[in-house]
Amino acid sequence: MVSGDSGPLATALAQFHAAADRLGLDDDLRQILASCKRELVVHFPVRMDDGSIRVFTGYRVQHNLARGPGKGGIRYHPAVDLDEVKALAMWMTWKAAAMGIPYGGAKGGVRVDPKSLSLGELERLTRRYATELAPIVGPQEDIPAPDMGTDAQVMAWIMDTVSMHQGYTVLGVVTGKPPAVGGTAGRVEATGRGITYILEEAVAWCGLPRDGLTVAVQGFGNVGSMVAILLSQRGYQVVAVSDSSGGVYDGTGLNIKALVELKQKGAPLSQASGDHISNQELLELPVDILIPAALEGQITSQNASRVQARLIIEGANGPTTPEADCILKENGVTVVPDILANAGGLVVSYFEWVQDLQSFFWDEEEVNERLSHIMRRAFREITSLAERGRMTLREAAMVLAVSRVAEAVRLRGLYP
Ligand code: GLU
Repeated sequence: MVSGDSGPLATALAQFHAAADRLGLDDDLRQILASCKRELVVHFPVRMDDGSIRVFTGYRVQHNLARGPGKGGIRYHPAVDLDEVKALAMWMTWKAAAMGIPYGGAKGGVRVDPKSLSLGELERLTRRYATELAPIVGPQEDIPAPDMGTDAQVMAWIMDTVSMHQGYTVLGVVTGKPPAVGGTAGRVEATGRGITYILEEAVAWCGLPRDGLTVAVQGFGNVGSMVAILLSQRGYQVVAVSDSSGGVYDGTGLNIKALVELKQKGAPLSQASGDHISNQELLELPVDILIPAALEGQITSQNASRVQARLIIEGANGPTTPEADCILKENGVTVVPDILANAGGLVVSYFEWVQDLQSFFWDEEEVNERLSHIMRRAFREITSLAERGRMTLREAAMVLAVSRVAEAVRLRGLYP
């Protein structure tokens, strides 16, 4: 994030208040929706491999639970802090509402670089963090999932830890698990797959020619690498990708399969052959479509005017600051917002939870078909609202989401 622009929490709040203004939301509802219902901060010790003890800080924030149990990932990253987790929890509330899925919004995180831990340390940290969260998570209360720095193995440990405490297996406490222990088909690919559905819709909506479109993807984790693979399989020219070490560029299209193999060997993209670029340079490349799929606060007032892409599809949560949004709007760049574009992970997490509760599992075809239906429906609802109200897609997505959450709060009324 570049100084002068909003941090993640200020970004999330500015987006909310803009939607609240448009909806003419009264001050009471505004107060409720602008605050996070529950914020848990835990400091917990973990025994490291060398026998020493390290105290880590973890968070779980539940923003709003009016529409259902909390839902949202757990992030392991050295920059995690309470404000970031609060912002991410808010975005989950809006994301679930925009998709029409019966969840509230939550998010968790541990301030740690998971790459610096051994497998044993990662497991002990996860099991202790899961124990600290136990009082506020559960299939009917709050259901974590993977996010940056966590994966299916981490989810299996969380499920097992909660199950050990309960005395029986509780599959529905967490999603994004391996299929062998209550995970669903298609969850690993879900966020990337959802982005490709939305990208197809957005290309048609913007009137871009389908053939020969060039794409740059920032971030090569679960989301970025999956998007790059799926888009290159569908005939798009993925010309640039990056990870935290930097990026590679080839104007004629990269060999994504080779880059994935390199990453699987544990090497950073800075060791890939080809023209090396920085993460900032990637955002400013002459491409048709830009997919930021890394951290928040990447497209700011400092670089937004140099973005050459016609279409931005937000794979990350909160990659564009409000200041940048204004510049992009003026320059005629279409931004498909995070709460629409990257909702595929959440949607398939919902399918996983439903399957776990029913102990009845679907095949991947059914998962993908239902994912496509929900995401394309949300795209149509949001674009038609944007057209009717002369709004950007973010403004329309937020208006739709906030109105749904506000309606739920209103209908439930105030307790006591
Ligand atoms: N971490 C993902 C997100 O930001 C998925 C959350 C979930 O599946 O609950 O949307």
